[in-house]
Amino acid sequence: MAVFDDGIAATELPTGSVVETEVLIVGSGPSGSAMALALATYGIPNIMVTKYRWTANTPRAHITNQRAMEFFRDMGVEEEVKLLATPHELIGDTVFCSSIAGEEFGRLLTWGTSPARHADYEAASPTLNCDIPQNLLEPILVRNATMRGTQTRFSTEYLSHEQDADGVLTTVRDRLTGAQYIIRSKYLIGADGARSQVAADIGLPYEGRMDIAGSMNITFRADLEALVGHRPSVLYWVVQPGANVGGIGAGLVRMVRTWDEWLIVWGYDIDEPAPDIDYESAKEVVFQLLGTRDFDVEITGTSLWGNNEMFATHLQSGRVFCVGDAIHRHPPSNGLGSNTSVQDSYNLAWKLTAVLRGQAGEALLESYSAERAPIARQIVTRANQSSREYGGFFDALGVTSAKDEAEMIAAIEERKLDTPMGRARREALRQAIELKNYEFNAHGVELGQFYESSAVISEPGGRPAPAGDPELYYQPSTVPGSPLPHAWLGDNEHKRSTLDLAPSTRFTLFTGISGQPWADAAATVAAELGIEVGAVVVGPGRGAEDLYFDWARLREIGEDGVLLVRPDKIIAWRSAGMVDDPETALTTALRAVLSR
Ligand SMILES: Cc1cc2nc3c(=O)[nH]c(=O)nc-3n(C[C@H](O)[C@H](O)[C@H](O)COP(=O)(O)OP(=O)(O)OC[C@H]3O[C@@H](n4cnc5c(N)ncnc54)[C@H](O)[C@@H]3O)c2cc1C
Repeated sequence: MAVFDDGIAATELPTGSVVETEVLIVGSGPSGSAMALALATYGIPNIMVTKYRWTANTPRAHITNQRAMEFFRDMGVEEEVKLLATPHELIGDTVFCSSIAGEEFGRLLTWGTSPARHADYEAASPTLNCDIPQNLLEPILVRNATMRGTQTRFSTEYLSHEQDADGVLTTVRDRLTGAQYIIRSKYLIGADGARSQVAADIGLPYEGRMDIAGSMNITFRADLEALVGHRPSVLYWVVQPGANVGGIGAGLVRMVRTWDEWLIVWGYDIDEPAPDIDYESAKEVVFQLLGTRDFDVEITGTSLWGNNEMFATHLQSGRVFCVGDAIHRHPPSNGLGSNTSVQDSYNLAWKLTAVLRGQAGEALLESYSAERAPIARQIVTRANQSSREYGGFFDALGVTSAKDEAEMIAAIEERKLDTPMGRARREALRQAIELKNYEFNAHGVELGQFYESSAVISEPGGRPAPAGDPELYYQPSTVPGSPLPHAWLGDNEHKRSTLDLAPSTRFTLFTGISGQPWADAAATVAAELGIEVGAVVVGPGRGAEDLYFDWARLREIGEDGVLLVRPDKIIAWRSAGMVDDPETALTTALRAVLSR
């Protein structure tokens, strides 16, 4: 009998103690619980194991973008998320200041809350972004997955796996008893975070580096409404010479709950020993960043974490796939961590379902890597660039070139002077804060993911040419590979988004009244291929009227054309108009998309 590091004896269960399931998920973070929720919703038996006794124990990721909200909406948990979230209208006034009670250097209306950007966000999706800390989000996903059929096993650690042509044998350890057992599954999903053992075991290839900077989190309780209620925001960036804890005196005060639960993120030099923070010194950091001692402060926790710049260039080995931080590791900038993790699982879950049901060829699964690896690269690059772009802000304040604290203070004060340097500082500051739109209003990065793979029938022109800055602005399109654009359809009684009419349990066709033959073909083709294909005929008298004529502007095809939408709401194929034999055209497209 072996004894592990934590003193728990490992008992080999008798031979034959093999549990069977279709999909084993290692990890119950945003990516793992999203995978479990989707598979359970689709009726695929799955087991989710996590080595801890519960879900995330700190707030961690929080900004929840519209794509993630659309997934929650699809899964029927959007209202539960909104119930616990800080709503869109309270998350926007990102503040740059010397302390919470101190002077401001500037503000930026963020996450689409400015009058100039709000319309873009409102027009793009049936749901808005919000802020829900990860420790509140995960239980919603885990609970709903478990209620729908996921076998959730806490305190259960992944140890190793072996795969053959038919399935995967994974050895796990019950951390309460030390007993090891084997789970036999058709597929294994590594959703085990930035230090993924599953990814290491299948030897995923990576580019980039881990631990490029150190961060310390301090969570605390203090009722700060008097200081922040008039400028509601999730993020208060503090630059304060002299308040160093192994850094340059810059930190982030982040709202966890309005307005009495907070998190401070403080950078430290990763090449130096980690700062030693006890209760009292943590409280001192809090007082320094608040700029006042006039509030009761209760420290609720401290933790250290590393910032990474690393992404996997391939996401699969045979029957084993990785999702979430296991394949993209980056700083919190742009709020992409949890959101992208959820999207990885949304992309893969319907493909696994189709293959397990015999509706698709195994090759469909290879499209996961083809589609999501470029996204991993893109978001890791963007998040790190956003992180580095704070350099311009520090330069504008003059703190990076200052030799000591006195010089830093003098440089910061210079922005108030009627001198050439004062004018230059003011302009540099304006530009540096303006640049942060690429972190805080990067709607194109959040929504504009585009796929090229075997599961999309691409058109010769490829990705549509952007009308505006593709990072700042999301441009809806129906070019195959694009997400289905949102428009409100309905009648005098109902109003539903195009996204609601294309649920992830099926393929969906969108056509117009003169495209009825496409809709007629859908039922025949579905029966022939043994899959579900819904049809939405947009037009008066069909229950899906183009209420605001937005769909006519967005669809980019004739009224007699068709869009074929995948379960994850990606446009797989389109026809600009009617063809001689819609049934054959549709069958050919679906066979190609499903690798049949
Ligand atoms: C301290 C901290 C602070 C963060 N702050 C932010 C932030 O402010 N904003 C932001 O956007 N992002 C933040 N992140 C990143 C964000 O939390 C991640 O992007 C997100 O959690 C990724 O989700 P995931 O499901 O892929 O992995 P994780 O959430 O890391 O989940 C990994 C899961 O795998 C399980 N696991 C790991 N190894 C094993 C094993 N051997 N056996 C069984 N189970 C295992 C864990 O128990 C856990 O359930 C933070 C991360 C950390 C660690």
